[in-house]
Amino acid sequence: MSVLAQGEFHPFTAAGRRFLYLVPSAAVFALDEPAAALIDGLDGRRVARRDLLADVGSRFPDTDLAQTLDELEQVHAVRTVAAPAPPAPPAPAIIPLTPFPLTTAVLNVTNQCNLSCSYCYEYSEDKIVDTANGSQPKFMSEETARKSVDLLMNESGDNRVVHVSFFGGETLMNYPVLSRVVPYAREQAAARGKQVEFNLTTNATLLTGEMIGFLADNDISVTVSMDGPREMQNRFRVFHDGGGSYDVLLPRVRELLRRHTSRPVGARVTLTSQVSDVVSIYRHLTEEIGFREVGFAPVTTSPGREYALDGDGFDHMVEQFTALADEFLEAALAGRHHGFSNVSETLEEIHKGASKAYPCGAGLGLVGVATGGDVALCHRFAGSDEHKLGTVDDGLDREAQNAFLERHHLANKTDCHTCWARPLCSGGCYHEAHTRYGTSERPNLHYCEWIRGWTDVCLRVYGELAARNPEFLRRFE
Ligand code: SF4
Ligand code: SF4
Repeated sequence: MSVLAQGEFHPFTAAGRRFLYLVPSAAVFALDEPAAALIDGLDGRRVARRDLLADVGSRFPDTDLAQTLDELEQVHAVRTVAAPAPPAPPAPAIIPLTPFPLTTAVLNVTNQCNLSCSYCYEYSEDKIVDTANGSQPKFMSEETARKSVDLLMNESGDNRVVHVSFFGGETLMNYPVLSRVVPYAREQAAARGKQVEFNLTTNATLLTGEMIGFLADNDISVTVSMDGPREMQNRFRVFHDGGGSYDVLLPRVRELLRRHTSRPVGARVTLTSQVSDVVSIYRHLTEEIGFREVGFAPVTTSPGREYALDGDGFDHMVEQFTALADEFLEAALAGRHHGFSNVSETLEEIHKGASKAYPCGAGLGLVGVATGGDVALCHRFAGSDEHKLGTVDDGLDREAQNAFLERHHLANKTDCHTCWARPLCSGGCYHEAHTRYGTSERPNLHYCEWIRGWTDVCLRVYGELAARNPEFLRRFE
């Protein structure tokens, strides 16, 4: 006799319909009424197939319930059980074949900064690399920048499009080198039949008219690190003398937005215990200043710092993210743009059925290059000997990369194996984990509630769009 139980999924409701987020396949499945009744009939129980069909059948006399049940089994929303349920299986520990082609090199063109933001992961008490007294030079040389580009090209395999990201410190403090390496990267890409795209992150306080012209002429995507209106921006984002940066940055950002229109210019906000009013920050940055996209991230910090978000802070953040996500949905249903990029990024992952064994591309398709040419997992680890994956002179250390990938696979994060959000989270940012727990190998269990709450909100937005404006989702294909 066939005995059935529920599969592994996260249920949610959108547009008056019930959906399942199917964890093993990371697919979204819409339930009609008979399918929903079959799922409900199994709620936490094991039921003989025959009994389930008999129980539910009386309510849907005109439906071929056996076929509906077969479909639910095919998508693993329902499973056959013969014995007590085994623990949910983790993602299989399949390590990607290396050499895994690179898509992105993040060049830390300097580790110096003209600001002194109290919460900065590069300079605060939580820093990994000693940028003041360590072995890395303060600025990347043009030669190292060129070699970084060569490394990216050489290691990018068949990838037709590669990405060069400029990061710091304050990136524009090494404008001479970055402005010279852009044409070099274009030449190298063209010679190999590839396309190269650029992006740059800056605090915008050093932007000049010449730089804006260069960024615009070269189609370089720009992200400005900015925390909101004057009072919020000046709370942490200060110069070395303690003076706020808002009034220095504002005219420069306005000029950037006016002249650089070939690519959307985005803002990236760091949320802290004292700067957490997401909705008013969003309004200021989009409506008053004119950013097209705004993304928010909680500050990366060890617990106990005065700016760290605590449990209430994360709850508050989810509430405000939800309010903005509702606005995003309203705009998307009406065919209007909304710039809350945290939603669009997650919607894209849901739509593509992302199911990750690693939380991000760090150490896989993405590497960070330190000012002296050491290659690391990503920009946040650049210059850390512990997280080194080679050098621009010697190339990628494939042995070190393999060891990293083996140690960091989701299969090793046993706490995540029963979590329905693992296809999208996969344990979260390595740098956050390193800051919090002293090792990049641990999952970020301090923010699971926030991750699951936020993923649920995005699934609901996705379900509403799938039901009411599926055309909107095609942009993610
Ligand atoms: S870190 Fe938490 S939310 Fe993320 S996959 Fe693991 S258990 Fe789930
Ligand atoms: S480790 Fe963290 S900071 Fe680095 S690329 Fe991944 S998510 Fe971003």
